[in-house]
Amino acid sequence: MNIGIVGAGMVGSSAGYALAMTDSVSEIVLVDRNDALARAQAEDISHAVPFVSATTVRSGDYADLVDAGIVILAAGVSQKPGETRLALLERNAEVFREVVGAVGTAAPEAILLVATNPVDIMTAVATKLSGLPSQRVIGSGTILDTARFRSLIGRHLGISPQSVHAYVLGEHGDSEVLAWSNARAGSIALETFADQVGKRLDAAVRQTIDDGVRNAAYRIISGKGATYYGIGAGLARIVKAIAHDQRDVLSVSIVTGMVEDVAEVPLSVPRVIGAAGVLADLFPELDQEEQAALRKSAMLIKQATVSLGL
Ligand code: ADP
Repeated sequence: MNIGIVGAGMVGSSAGYALAMTDSVSEIVLVDRNDALARAQAEDISHAVPFVSATTVRSGDYADLVDAGIVILAAGVSQKPGETRLALLERNAEVFREVVGAVGTAAPEAILLVATNPVDIMTAVATKLSGLPSQRVIGSGTILDTARFRSLIGRHLGISPQSVHAYVLGEHGDSEVLAWSNARAGSIALETFADQVGKRLDAAVRQTIDDGVRNAAYRIISGKGATYYGIGAGLARIVKAIAHDQRDVLSVSIVTGMVEDVAEVPLSVPRVIGAAGVLADLFPELDQEEQAALRKSAMLIKQATVSLGL
């Protein structure tokens, strides 16, 4: 499958690099309004390719996306000093008006994979602007938060993250919900697993893991100014699931019909991902507290989409 990436900044280029390293697609085309940047990133990534894969990596303009099966949207502007969240949102929505329109003309059948933050809102913006069914406009959502959650639980219990099944739901952001009550290690409830291997899983441990997941981005940004490798790999993971029709269960964001009585809201729940995009939405059983937190998260996002007129 051929992949387009619009926005060749840190996130877009990291996704391109991760994709090239996984050898799961045939061609990657990078597009950016800064043409020199797109060219340089494509050339740099293409120099990594001979060590690992046979992927063609090049830069181009929108017309070069004609054969793309998936287009990653990583274009955006960053917050100006003193700028409100809503003003930033409006400027990013403006970027998407240009980008989503141009991608739609070049590759009307492509699945859109949204990475620009705030990703849930930008997913709703892209869904509206593209006119595509919501199953084909997928935001990276909590894919990375879920990966961090599984990895921290796994580390605590002394098992691989692949053997932990646990999801982060709702907003990719402060109101996200770590679904502890249905988490499993192997096929065993977490607490039972912890007991059997002689580990504690008390409130203090949970709080440390919660903080590790929820505040990871803040810590990384304070140290290096931005986060991109993790999300780049997360985007490559979603592309792989679509390109190879893997039917993986991943937590990603799409505009969802109804979540905890909130209608048409873009947020993450686990979903089955395959060639057609999202094939099914899954709603894990939650305890009362988690349910209330998910409802609060959904309402917060809904307020933002309403204030943007979506
Ligand atoms: P991030 O860390 O989110 O990747 P960057 O600022 O590094 O942020 O990257 C965002 C990229 O989006 C920049 O390379 C910028 O040139 C690009 N971009 C911004 N607006 C547009 C647009 N209208 N069309 C195409 N690319 C755009």
